[in-house]
Amino acid sequence: MTARIIDGKSYAENLRTRIAGHVARLKAEHGITPGLAVVIVGHDPASEIYVSSKAKQTAEVGMVSFKYELPEDTSEAELLELVRRLNNDDQVHGILVQMPVPKQIDPVKVIEAIAPSKDVDCFTPANVGKVQIGLPGPVSCTPLGCLMLLRDQLGSLAGLHAVIVGRSNLVGKPMMQLLLRENCTITVAHSKTRDLADVVRRADIVVAAVGRPEMIKGDWIKPGATVLDVGVNRIPAPERGEGKTRLVGDVAFAEAKEIAGAISPVPGGVGPMTIACLLANTITTASLINGLVPPS
Ligand code: NDP
Repeated sequence: MTARIIDGKSYAENLRTRIAGHVARLKAEHGITPGLAVVIVGHDPASEIYVSSKAKQTAEVGMVSFKYELPEDTSEAELLELVRRLNNDDQVHGILVQMPVPKQIDPVKVIEAIAPSKDVDCFTPANVGKVQIGLPGPVSCTPLGCLMLLRDQLGSLAGLHAVIVGRSNLVGKPMMQLLLRENCTITVAHSKTRDLADVVRRADIVVAAVGRPEMIKGDWIKPGATVLDVGVNRIPAPERGEGKTRLVGDVAFAEAKEIAGAISPVPGGVGPMTIACLLANTITTASLINGLVPPS
């Protein structure tokens, strides 16, 4: 039987509609207009597209978008000064500095400079710790999006065995924390894991966050498992014409969809959830900064 295709695009659209409702309530009931500042340094084309989508979607849900485009040769001191200014700006409830930053800037110093109360990417040690012990605050955007899709597909996740392939601070580790909170039994695999195919075959839930095109094969998937593919890989597509490319995930989609119970495609699966969750985090921080309980 062919798997259900997990439509992250339409889930994210619905989520943005709910977020627009929260924004309208914050404005009407508390006089608060959530503001999200996005800072980009230099001219990485992929980052520029991503930052523009963030700004557009921020405005579409009724928040204020502050966009700062700094030149490639911006010094670390200049960027840190901007972050400090944004930390002290009452109109700004979320600050995101698009990574990677140019080499003259230490990304760790930038992350540590962001006020945890406005850290909508959930990069600061304080917020990483809060997620670990279950306190309210922003949650890493891509894992939060994965969790929403999994709950939508499966309802309760309690007792399910989740295999997360990848252990980055951005995806794998926060995914592990969130699934542990859901009472999953978790295996985190990485580049040194032995017999990866056998490990993945034991999973009720597979979260693939590796960055290797179609590495996870169809016959690694347990029949009926739910597969979330976080990977975004651009590969040559000569069938579309000379020099053309296309996006694929970390899972061999065509094979895996014949075996899985549900699977997210690339593009159109996990990707659209990430920006929607960034907006959700901005509602969370805007609420907490103003002493309100964030919407669940
Ligand atoms: P990282 O490069 O930071 O981490 C990759 C992880 O995969 C590492 O833990 C690494 O192991 C592991 N890995 C590498 N090779 C293998 C292998 N052969 N077998 C098993 N594990 C392996 O990547 P990110 O977590 O930042 O991103 C992963 C993917 O997700 C990328 O394609 C990225 O573009 C995509 N992404 C998509 C997002 C979205 O919104 N859709 C958001 C964020 C990322 P080790 O630790 O041992 O090196």
